[in-house]
Amino acid sequence: MDVLYFSIILTFFCLPIDGEKSTKFKKTVEYLVQYGYLEKNSMSNSSLLSGTSFRNSLREFQSFVGIPVTGKMDKPTMKMMSAPRCGVPDKSGKSNRVKRYTTDAVIWNMKHLTYKISKYSKQLKRNEIDTTIQKASNLWSKYTDLTFEPSKRGKIDIRFEERQHGDGDAFHGELAHAFSPQDGGAIHFDDSKRWKIGFGPGYDLYQTATHEFGHSLGLGHSKVKESVMWPYLPNTWKRDLHPDDIKGIQELYGKKTSCKCNSP
Ligand SMILES: [Zn+2]
Ligand SMILES: [Zn+2]
Repeated sequence: MDVLYFSIILTFFCLPIDGEKSTKFKKTVEYLVQYGYLEKNSMSNSSLLSGTSFRNSLREFQSFVGIPVTGKMDKPTMKMMSAPRCGVPDKSGKSNRVKRYTTDAVIWNMKHLTYKISKYSKQLKRNEIDTTIQKASNLWSKYTDLTFEPSKRGKIDIRFEERQHGDGDAFHGELAHAFSPQDGGAIHFDDSKRWKIGFGPGYDLYQTATHEFGHSLGLGHSKVKESVMWPYLPNTWKRDLHPDDIKGIQELYGKKTSCKCNSP
């Protein structure tokens, strides 16, 4: 009788905890796959997941984002995984959209680039979006000979979209994503997110657009927390490129030739 009672209690109290644990584990695996730390096929391979490959990819993630490298689903890890971020993988395991600029980045073979905003946000005024996108692109022109021009037949297609939007990469929590030059450099913002220009609640469109232009030009994510190419939104953005971003973009396109203001 006691044993039966104990079993019932055990079942009653343990099941929800196990369920919670496995949901947490599943979400962690999905995150690691989504952002390139774990191969997609390992999701169905339980022996891989129970072994070192899960812990190693967790360690790689922790190391990339600069939190204690424990290989465990601890508080700092879970907190980081719930922070708003860009949808482009940090590593190219999942997708080959972005090549790290330190290895074999593909770049535009022209200095004068055009863009078009072919789908506007439902939340902001068109002219404000136009100005913000122009300001974001200008930050990359400031340190290189690249120039950007809005044009009806622009090469870089910019859209505000929601959920599934035709590129096989539905939004599920990310703020935005972008394609590398070899894939056309398109930039998509998730319009189900609350966007702001200037002060107030919401995500900063200027900051996010500057980041996504970086991908559009061939840059990957940076480990430097203060940089524009950090995958998350730092609270203390100085509304300019960080020396790490300047170094990255100049490795791809060279320094600006018309001024002496471009050393990182
Ligand atoms: Zn990004
Ligand atoms: Zn998209």
